[in-house]
Amino acid sequence: EEHMLRSEKMRVVGELASGMAHEIRNPLTAVKGFLQMSRSSGYNIEPWYGLIMDEIGRMSELTAEFLQFSRPSGTDYREQSLQSCIQRVIALTDTEVSRLGQRLIYEHPDEPVMLWMDPDKIVQLLLNLVKNAYEAMPDGGTLYIRLRRSGRTAVVEVEDTGVGIPPDRLGAIFHPFYTTKDYGTGLGLSISHKIVQDHNGTLEVESIVGKGTKFVLTFPLSDARHAND
Ligand code: ADP
Ligand code: MG
Repeated sequence: EEHMLRSEKMRVVGELASGMAHEIRNPLTAVKGFLQMSRSSGYNIEPWYGLIMDEIGRMSELTAEFLQFSRPSGTDYREQSLQSCIQRVIALTDTEVSRLGQRLIYEHPDEPVMLWMDPDKIVQLLLNLVKNAYEAMPDGGTLYIRLRRSGRTAVVEVEDTGVGIPPDRLGAIFHPFYTTKDYGTGLGLSISHKIVQDHNGTLEVESIVGKGTKFVLTFPLSDARHAND
């Protein structure tokens, strides 16, 4: 089974790598062209400085996300609470959320909700969803994070009151490099989906244009896992 997981992962890494090469080649060619023109014909690139920096920024974001994804996994699994991961995500994002004039509401049970997990990956997954949520509410709104137990599963909801997603785009959002943002990578949700699969979970989305979007995650609880052993 380990071997299957590994080769499945290599296939996805390979697919992403060829997409990456494609995504990076065009901006790289453009940046190179600007530099050559400034050298050979004294062309002033100053007015394009912002654009060039944005393109370089996007390329480094793509590489960073890809490296995160291709980092070996399966070695760092342990039993940990979802509350601890959510706390880390909130610490990393609350400055941006309040800068954007948004409200964050976090609901969770008092008892720790324990999963068998790679904590860094779960944080990365939740971070991707929370980032998308606040990016969908440029004019303010409310970001909800809800955690609960339901039978033998843990349920996490990340909901926003933002722009929403048209029904015919709901399938596309999980495709690598699909983005509607000027400087998005389009990798966040495909990486998130893979992390969910690696944890035997599910990821579902509901959205209404102009009202908001809700992502629902479920994971098997680690005590349920032991009960099945
Ligand atoms: P990126 O954020 O870099 O665009 P993602 O894979 O994270 O890439 O998301 C892909 C696309 O899915 C986004 O560009 C956006 O169109 C859509 N999307 C994801 N989450 C939300 C959300 N909470 N509200 C509205 N649209 C969303
Ligand atoms: Mg994203």
